[in-house]
Amino acid sequence: MQPAETFVPPRFTVYQHRQIDKIEALHQLPEHMRFEMKVVASVFPFRVNNFVIEELIDWDKVPNDPVFQLTFPQRGMLDDESYEQMAALHRTDPTAEQVMELAQQIRNKLNPHPAGQMEKNVPELDGERVEGIQHKYKETVLFFPAQGQYCHSYCTFCFRWAQFVGKATRFNNNDADLLHNYLREHKEVTDLLVTGGDPMVMRTVKLRGYLEKLKDPEFDHIRTIRIGTKSLTFWPFRYLTDPDAQDLLALIKELVDAGKHVSIMAHINHKQELRTAATREAIALLRKTGAQIRTQAPLLNNINTDPNMWAEMWKEQTQLGMIPYYMFIERDTGAKRYFELPLYKTWETFREAYKQVSGVSRTVRGPSMSAGPGKVEVSGVSEIAGEKVFVLRFIQARNPEWVQRPFFAKYDENATWLNDLKPAFGEEKFFWEDEYNAM
Ligand code: SF4
Repeated sequence: MQPAETFVPPRFTVYQHRQIDKIEALHQLPEHMRFEMKVVASVFPFRVNNFVIEELIDWDKVPNDPVFQLTFPQRGMLDDESYEQMAALHRTDPTAEQVMELAQQIRNKLNPHPAGQMEKNVPELDGERVEGIQHKYKETVLFFPAQGQYCHSYCTFCFRWAQFVGKATRFNNNDADLLHNYLREHKEVTDLLVTGGDPMVMRTVKLRGYLEKLKDPEFDHIRTIRIGTKSLTFWPFRYLTDPDAQDLLALIKELVDAGKHVSIMAHINHKQELRTAATREAIALLRKTGAQIRTQAPLLNNINTDPNMWAEMWKEQTQLGMIPYYMFIERDTGAKRYFELPLYKTWETFREAYKQVSGVSRTVRGPSMSAGPGKVEVSGVSEIAGEKVFVLRFIQARNPEWVQRPFFAKYDENATWLNDLKPAFGEEKFFWEDEYNAM
């Protein structure tokens, strides 16, 4: 394996949704496809760097290439009515304000803040809402640093799309003191998840401002620090050749040496993302700090529906020293219509993949819905007392007492999310519903 200093970083160029014509690689596509992309990109933002374009997309497989689908907006992401409205506007040479106004109307119909993120999860400190923190599960706090609210590349499916479309809808905080005060007051919290966007877009000095203090004895209750990121595959030079790459690795090592478990939560949707030497070197360097790397991704129509690919990906991740962690179910927001799959299909895909891997890769859990009441796993489809049912369980829940209690929903081959499901066996409600609604 090449040592980091032998990597020559590519120039770093980022393209965003208004710059479709500037991306040379797209010029090989038919004009109508580029127009469709412009129309859809007015609603769903995208951001992509040259490394992804040049190293990760197989252009001879476009439009079916999974990383192309992951990176660029597609016609099917909007329903016909919304698409036609926006396309008609584009044909009139509109102003930016006109596009923005229509885009906002369309976005508002797409459940921009799913799972009660804006109402139920924001905690209070001294009677004030603590913006930029979510505290849904007792032991875990999510922190959204203001400088980390974008990503090296916006994934087309990402449930954080609403964070990427303008300040008014963003949810973040840049106040390190507020984070520290909150954690100081909450000794029940053991895990801090630094999320975004992608915190690894921040300069190390900023990340240090949030995390270094957690080495102090007053934060001994914070045992685990997780950092969610796409950088390992979409900009591995963050750990290799960026000016503050060494300082980033040093910070992680300092936290590990101080007794913290540091877990890099790597967003990896397809095994094609693992193919570059730079990514493999970045993984090796991170592992040398003592951090663990856990991998997670949703199952997405048009991108990663092949169970054999999942099995291969989990095996390769394990071989590289990463821990397969979650297969998620595409969330009920944004361009869900393009990516969603029926729940029974998600379970079948998970099962087909899971049975191909050895015990060391069976660390992976799923398929799981990050829904309002908690993370609900589709454990199976079964027939009980003559009724075909989904077998479900909470992996994580707003009330810890709900966790690991199996519950049952009527089988429905069209169901794609928890709120499509009805209780089985003639029950009127799921066991957790009254309590959840009262929260
Ligand atoms: S990298 Fe992760 S957070 Fe960023 S857009 Fe992709 S899925 Fe979303």
